Amino acid sequence: MREQFGSEAVIDLYEKNAIGGRLATININSRDYESGGSIIHPDNLYMVNFTNILGLEKRERSSGQTMGIFDGEEMVLTTSPYTVVTLAKMFWRYGMDIYNLQKWVSSDLLVKFKRIYKTQDAGFAYTNIPELLAAMDPSFANYLKKSILMVMREEGFHEAMIHELVLGAMRTNYGQGLEIPGFVGAISMAGVEPGLWSVKGGNKKVPQNIVKHSKVNVIPAEVKMVEFLEDEPFLYEVYYKEKNGEAKTKRYDMVVIATPLHDGISDIKFEGFQQDIHNFPQQYHKTVATFVHGTLNSTYFGVDNPIDMTNEVFTCNMNLLMNSFGQHLPVDYSSTSDKVPPIDGNIVGKIFSNRELTQEEVKLYFKSIEEIQTVSWMAYPEYNFKKTDDLPPFLLNERLYYVNAIELAASAMEMEAIAGRNIALLAYNHWYDKLDKIDEKYMDPSQMSSSETGDL
Ligand SMILES: Cc1cc2nc3c(=O)[nH]c(=O)nc-3n(C[C@H](O)[C@H](O)[C@H](O)COP(=O)(O)OP(=O)(O)OC[C@H]3O[C@@H](n4cnc5c(N)ncnc54)[C@H](O)[C@@H]3O)c2cc1C
Repeated sequence: MREQFGSEAVIDLYEKNAIGGRLATININSRDYESGGSIIHPDNLYMVNFTNILGLEKRERSSGQTMGIFDGEEMVLTTSPYTVVTLAKMFWRYGMDIYNLQKWVSSDLLVKFKRIYKTQDAGFAYTNIPELLAAMDPSFANYLKKSILMVMREEGFHEAMIHELVLGAMRTNYGQGLEIPGFVGAISMAGVEPGLWSVKGGNKKVPQNIVKHSKVNVIPAEVKMVEFLEDEPFLYEVYYKEKNGEAKTKRYDMVVIATPLHDGISDIKFEGFQQDIHNFPQQYHKTVATFVHGTLNSTYFGVDNPIDMTNEVFTCNMNLLMNSFGQHLPVDYSSTSDKVPPIDGNIVGKIFSNRELTQEEVKLYFKSIEEIQTVSWMAYPEYNFKKTDDLPPFLLNERLYYVNAIELAASAMEMEAIAGRNIALLAYNHWYDKLDKIDEKYMDPSQMSSSETGDL
């Protein structure tokens, strides 16, 4: 918004808790660990750019980390610290699917996905999710209406890989199964690619530093209501409650809602609108992150010798309580000053589940426990490919915008950044009457033939 509207624009940002929201850290064993959004894909251009512009650094990763897929009885696949061994094991289990998956993600999905950056650089903006996804590629809008299971079968992948690796990725990233829509499922598959990273000191540093960098006024208060006052010119009144309980109001030319408008997360009221605006009907999915400082019980995973246990576990059985497990490194991890604890020693591990775990349940996974910390999130939508006809729009009313509509397509840091820029462009195009750049297809000159460009 600052880039589009310049330094003169007055921009207020209301925050009822802490800047960062679902990007947060938790302190366990005297170090901070990511408790919400944690991994970023190397091709997530906005997150990469933010990190660079804001002078932040990528957190170091420890090499040689391994992953296993657990079906409830045994590890059906384990990777090796050596890439060549991992590839051989994967090829042995999934055949050419493993090569085709990598090709599908990097040469097809990501190439199409990245078209949005040129489209946004050219100033194009969209009022709804299907139009925005179609700007990446027309097939993406169709991916909303099919499950990832259907999409991957159509792409020719076989049941073994879909029901193990793909299901494991869905359960790890979204706590849900193969019925989630193809688009979010495909995004999720990018999350098993190499080169994933996070921000040193915590991903929350990105929003915290953006707020300072873009010189917005942070108002530490809870927005209670947005009222539409008049339309010539547009005028909105925001009602908010400060931390000391005092109720106040303030008027604006435009308002952007940047939190999910769904029950269990938000109860912002909207008044004075011709058409009712209220929370959208989709539910949000509860994901609980249980952090344990202790020693893993490898026998639960069917691994006899604790040293053979993998650092990360995907689970591919919908009946299991544990969606995934991962040994975690602190957000300020440095290979020069930190030694990564061996997997059979005292580690910090994170278990994702769809409900809180009892002490007894945690003891199934850990044979000794020093400390447990739990964070419960209304994390992302409860996805359903059969209910993608009524997706929330980016435009709720003229000059009233809604960033988090994007989450019904896919919830991820980069998706929110793309949606945020879409809103800034949409607001700008509306403000300056650039209607030819709203809901129109961008034709990339480098992809056009000479007859389309008019060149001889
Ligand atoms: C457990 C978990 C794991 C995840 N893993 C990943 C991952 O590995 N990679 C990835 O890319 N993404 C991941 N995500 C998703 C990612 O974290 C989110 O998509 C993203 O952080 C959402 O950002 P946001 O700013 O849109 O919303 P939020 O972070 O939810 O921010 C909304 C903000 O609005 C504030 N707010 C709400 N209502 C009001 C009000 N009435 N008045 C004032 N302020 C209000 C909230 O306090 C909050 O700070 C994960 C999410 C969770 C929960």
